Amino acid sequence: MKLPVFSAEDLTARSAEFMRPWHENYLAMYSSIWEGIVTDPVLMTVPVDDHLVHRADGVFDAFKCVNGRAYCLDRHLRRLERSASSLGIDMPPDYERITDIIKAVVRTGGSRDVICRIIVSRGPGSFSTNPFDCPTSQLYVIAHSLKPPPPEAYEKGVAIISAEVPVKPSFYAKVKSCDYLINVMITKAAKEGGVDFAVTWDENGFLAEGSTENILLVSPEKELLIPEFDRILQGITLTRVMELTEELVLEGYLKGIKVVRIDRATAAHCLEVMLCGTSLDVLPVRKWDGRTIGQGRPGPVFRKLNEVLRHDIESNPDLLTPMFE
Ligand code: PMP
Repeated sequence: MKLPVFSAEDLTARSAEFMRPWHENYLAMYSSIWEGIVTDPVLMTVPVDDHLVHRADGVFDAFKCVNGRAYCLDRHLRRLERSASSLGIDMPPDYERITDIIKAVVRTGGSRDVICRIIVSRGPGSFSTNPFDCPTSQLYVIAHSLKPPPPEAYEKGVAIISAEVPVKPSFYAKVKSCDYLINVMITKAAKEGGVDFAVTWDENGFLAEGSTENILLVSPEKELLIPEFDRILQGITLTRVMELTEELVLEGYLKGIKVVRIDRATAAHCLEVMLCGTSLDVLPVRKWDGRTIGQGRPGPVFRKLNEVLRHDIESNPDLLTPMFE
């Protein structure tokens, strides 16, 4: 078989041919390889010998910008640094300018409502598993359109299922590495089960988390129950929800918060179930494994939490970083 052999110029000249429908959401990408930004989605590439590609050897984080302001940027950057440090990945030199780079990517993308992904990879060096083959880690920053669930998901609640997928060992669950194969299997189970979200249970029968979201329950005693943090990624949204819950306790919506092991019997009796994460905020659950939760519609705790969290995202000056000023 004779296949064409292309130069970089050949491929760049033909980039329009490689455009696909999903590319319309991709706005801009910075790569430390070029120390600059591209906006052509076809050029948003990573070297194939970056150990990120063939060994999932990298870490990432994702935050959102709403109306041109990044929410909890500092918390996301601190988590990214912790993830990298756990795997022994040094931050690349240009990470010193991370906030300026993020602002440049978001501004170049032009949209005020985006998800921004920051990836720190082990870097190119070989095709082996040896991290010491890679002289420098790399930084990739991507801005793409923010696509939250449709309004009816918040008005009516969503259905979820339990996925028969193993929960990550504690060390890996707590690191936001680019090895998301287990998370992929959770979403695959959800879609195959005809729903958008699935959650997992650990080998001892305790509740863990969703593919890219945390889960919260309201007990019959009106306590907010959160799975213990040893087998899950502690979401930035979840942490903020826990802080904002104080207001719900003062106003009588809740009696308190408990971070506990949650078994199936406890989950079966809860009054409300919610998912939370960066792109969702808080999302009410109407059905779980075919069983109706509470009255089968979003409950009072969800409604109040949704209100205070959205207010926080729109107007808390301490947690918002302007991208366009
Ligand atoms: N768990 C996992 C495994 C995730 O990937 C995410 C998304 N980062 C979350 C929970 C929710 O975290 P956050 O609120 O920081 O988006």
